[in-house]
Amino acid sequence: MERGRAAGVEGRLLGGEPGAPPRRFRVRAKVVVAACGTLHTPLLLGTAGAFRSSGALGHGVTLHPAVRVVARFDDTLNGWDGALQSVYSDHFDPEGIKLVGVYSAVNVLAAGLPGVGPALRRRVRALPRCAVFGAMIHDEGGGRVRRGLGREPVVTYAMAPRDLARLRRAITILSEMALAAGAREVYTALLGAPPITSMDAARAAERAPVDARRIECMAFHPLGSARVANDPRRGIVDQSGECFELPGLFVADGSILPTSIGVNSQVPIMAMATRIAWRMAERFPALAAASPA
Ligand SMILES: Cc1cc2nc3c(=O)[nH]c(=O)nc-3n(C[C@H](O)[C@H](O)[C@H](O)COP(=O)(O)OP(=O)(O)OC[C@H]3O[C@@H](n4cnc5c(N)ncnc54)[C@H](O)[C@@H]3O)c2cc1C
Repeated sequence: MERGRAAGVEGRLLGGEPGAPPRRFRVRAKVVVAACGTLHTPLLLGTAGAFRSSGALGHGVTLHPAVRVVARFDDTLNGWDGALQSVYSDHFDPEGIKLVGVYSAVNVLAAGLPGVGPALRRRVRALPRCAVFGAMIHDEGGGRVRRGLGREPVVTYAMAPRDLARLRRAITILSEMALAAGAREVYTALLGAPPITSMDAARAAERAPVDARRIECMAFHPLGSARVANDPRRGIVDQSGECFELPGLFVADGSILPTSIGVNSQVPIMAMATRIAWRMAERFPALAAASPA
């Protein structure tokens, strides 16, 4: 930093020859862009030490918590063949639930099936006849990123009660879909629970008391650890992606998205990054002219 502005980047390259001293680098720049993703950008910004006033750095992370069900049919399906994520449904968007076609590695699926010993072995053998479908939740931000030991981030997430209810509703919807399509048994994301074999059982499972820690939950879209805001007291960057507290430093990755978006995140992040780049090109025409693209 120089005179209150970002003036470049310095660091150390990872890798290199074993035992050789780390190679250091320093780049002076009129404009600096951080794009380390939701988990690493707050750590990088934290080292710059200029982001204390809003308290938003690393807070309010959304994840799109997701579940999947495995459904056993009579026919052979070989779910690992063909295109992944080839279908989705936004029918339940008003309830904050998006249904997405998924298929996991067979060993991961096997580990989540109910039963032990011969019962588990029977279900694993039936995997060629199993289909998998998933759902993700348009969630409130209950996540936090901080520096762990070394240079890796640690993420914690406290699920909002509303989102837990959505997750359980999603499991019911997925189970009903599978049964309507002819599934004999549905293995839900509730670890250790008996298979679901009827619509009534699917709905009853949603109403039954449950220890939420037993829900096998996944997340692939962490967003919002350096969120955009109109007011420096509520976020880290302004609408052009520039840090309120460190002019000249821009953020262009998933960390700036202020809420969960309820859809897969890659294209929306690319759209935001493109928009930030266009604004940058308008403000710094000399830099844009010097750039090859
Ligand atoms: C298993 C999985 C499946 C997914 N599937 C889909 C999908 O099907 N569709 C979809 O739309 N989205 C999907 N996503 C989400 C999507 O990949 C992410 O939302 C998106 O890539 C995030 O973009 P980003 O630019 O914010 O961060 P990233 O793509 O994570 O880019 C950040 C980069 O910064 C680098 N970096 C971090 N720290 C440093 C540092 N200190 N110095 C230098 N470099 C650093 C990282 O190595 C990384 O290359 C998936 C994610 C996962 C994990």
